[in-house]
Amino acid sequence: MSSARESRYRVLLVDLDGTLIDYARTEDSALREIHRRFFRSGLRSFLRDFHAVNGPLWAAYREHRIDLEELRLERWARMGAGTAVASAFEDALGRHAVLFPEAREALRLLSRRFRLALVTDGLPAVQRVKLRRTRIERFFQRVVIAPEAGLRKPDGALLHHTLSLLEAKPDDSLMVGDSVVSDGGCAREAGVDFCWVDRAGGARPPDVSGIPVRWIVTDLGVIWWSVSTDVSMNVSTDVAVDDAPA
Ligand SMILES: [Mg+2]
Repeated sequence: MSSARESRYRVLLVDLDGTLIDYARTEDSALREIHRRFFRSGLRSFLRDFHAVNGPLWAAYREHRIDLEELRLERWARMGAGTAVASAFEDALGRHAVLFPEAREALRLLSRRFRLALVTDGLPAVQRVKLRRTRIERFFQRVVIAPEAGLRKPDGALLHHTLSLLEAKPDDSLMVGDSVVSDGGCAREAGVDFCWVDRAGGARPPDVSGIPVRWIVTDLGVIWWSVSTDVSMNVSTDVAVDDAPA
């Protein structure tokens, strides 16, 4: 481990779902509400079926094979439900949004040391409700919701757009996110270093090439300690794919 020194980074580009917001918990609460209100099948099979259709649809979205409107309707159409259920689910996602325990304090500390921008993908109305509910918007100099800019993860243009708003450069910036595919992919395309928030804490064998992973952390509190002092935790290997929403 090297001695502490000044970080090269001035800007942190931070993902929302799965990075700041405990998306698995948020989504599970929303799904349980939807199941209770609209479905008569068993809960376990309902959850299994939803995840079986939702994951591949997010992958199709990332690959530009469908757009967000198709995703939000198609995932429920495949569950035998319509627009009303899709809207109810999105409403529930906003109401059930919950941060990871360390997220607020980490943002408070990081916002003193770095310029922060939130870079998220997903339905803008839902993301806005999550931000209001969790009251974290004040930590960010910019909030970029990809579809509002006509972009999506993992497009590198999304980070270039954000950096242009901040008048910042890729070399000064670090993308922080839980998704190697979405966030790491953005970083790779934009020439920005990537900090992988691996809350499971077990880096798996590499199968995504060229992702510029410079840091792997298990929670956001570690970022402040490691990145802000540039204590050496660098990793040179690539890391495995996931299929979580952006
Ligand atoms: Mg995420």
